[in-house]
Amino acid sequence: MTFDTTSFEKLLASSRDIVLIGHFNPDGDAVGSVTAAWHYLKSRGLRPRMILPSPYPESMAFLDAGDPAERIVICEEQLEEARRLVASADLLICLDFNRLARTEYLENDILASRAKKVLIDHHISAELDRFDETFSTIDVSSTCELLFRILMDLPGIAGDAERIPLRCAESLYVGMMTDTNNFSNSVFPGTFEMASRLIARGVDKNGLQEKVLFCYSESRMRLLGHLVKDKMTLLPRYAAAYMLLSNREKEEYGFRPGDSEGFVNLPMSIADVQVSALFTENVDGKYIRVSLRSKGSIDVNRFAVRFFNGGGHRNASGGRLYMPLEAVPAYFEQALAAWPEEEKFS
Ligand code: 5GP
Ligand code: MN
Repeated sequence: MTFDTTSFEKLLASSRDIVLIGHFNPDGDAVGSVTAAWHYLKSRGLRPRMILPSPYPESMAFLDAGDPAERIVICEEQLEEARRLVASADLLICLDFNRLARTEYLENDILASRAKKVLIDHHISAELDRFDETFSTIDVSSTCELLFRILMDLPGIAGDAERIPLRCAESLYVGMMTDTNNFSNSVFPGTFEMASRLIARGVDKNGLQEKVLFCYSESRMRLLGHLVKDKMTLLPRYAAAYMLLSNREKEEYGFRPGDSEGFVNLPMSIADVQVSALFTENVDGKYIRVSLRSKGSIDVNRFAVRFFNGGGHRNASGGRLYMPLEAVPAYFEQALAAWPEEEKFS
């Protein structure tokens, strides 16, 4: 993979109000890439701002800006402020999403903004024509890995990872670690190379792992146990498994944003399970959040596009269903039965 950062560097050098935007329901890669870019730009003397559409897991709060005035603006808490930032920016950098609709609230604001727009993302079928400059590839573990390579190519860093600010390096590491499920999926040779460079730079691998991955509350761990023991259904005919998580259970287990992160991976440890799904009732009851995982060449991205109003990657995708939770099992079975053979593998 090669790319040219010359014009991106020019944009950075000529912009004053830079805004970094991640996707709805931000995961480690979204929070990691947005904060990594922020720490880097900050170290260049710029004053960038960050926007995320909805709250992110508390376990990643340490990646955010120190000064409260500079912290991530969450659309669901401060939509007017987010809109004002987008409107007055001269450079918008969109990270870890392929379609502007993934910002949930800001698609029209981004389109209407006079700012130059840059995309840095690792999903397929990105809306390239909506941006002035794009870095888009699926041959990386994460947006953080792509961002690492872009930073390494910029003249100020010029391939020397020692010049990456430590806070930036930590954010990059967290995004890569979480998007690969701690180096178990979507790992490329460059992923380990990046990990190696960042650890040599001074990133505390074990410390970050403890902060971000081994940070369960007791109730979160009990919810995990409950889902696996009482809520997991196997469909051997389709080599599939699914779990349902209702609002009532969320309340019972004191659910907080990010608490179900990674749960969809659990059934994948069963030898005969090739596809796993987690269906989560949204707080306002308006839709069901869908998480999908698959093994090998089974392509849940196209499955998510066709049946679940979503998309993502071959082995990890997501989407939404607009139906009551009780209707989901029958719908999921129908979708598995109707999944066209020619779309099943890639
Ligand atoms: P997760 O299951 O971890 O929430 O999401 C896995 C992947 O699916 C994400 O990295 C993202 O690429 C994709 N994804 C999740 N939710 C959606 C969605 O609503 N729409 C689209 N297009 N992709 C999604
Ligand atoms: Mn990602």
